[in-house]
Amino acid sequence: MASKLPPVQTGLKGRCPVCGEGTLFKGFLEFADRCEACHADFSKEDAGDGPTVFVIFIVGIFIVPLALGFSMILNAPMWLTLLIWIPIIIIVCLILLRVLRGVMFNLQWKHDALEIKSKDIQQ
Ligand SMILES: [Zn+2]
Repeated sequence: MASKLPPVQTGLKGRCPVCGEGTLFKGFLEFADRCEACHADFSKEDAGDGPTVFVIFIVGIFIVPLALGFSMILNAPMWLTLLIWIPIIIIVCLILLRVLRGVMFNLQWKHDALEIKSKDIQQ
């Protein structure tokens, strides 16, 4: 069931790819089984590990150098660098993971990209 809603916008908001009203998540990172507004079935969709890879790239390229720069420029002790930056990195990773899961889920839905199972190949 493809959608005409813009997948990146609905994904960034964590909204349903069909109606754009219901939320994708029932927890912070866990997908709901269906849309609370239009009852679209989310159970077969799964963004897999894709969002995690993007989070690793984004945090590794932008956030970790900030932490290293903080330590080198301010000549901060390692314990202070770790104390400040580990929570920041964890929070940024979790927020990015939620956002990117929503975006990838919406892109999958728009392009009907379902997981290929072994039984699909044998037919
Ligand atoms: Zn919906």
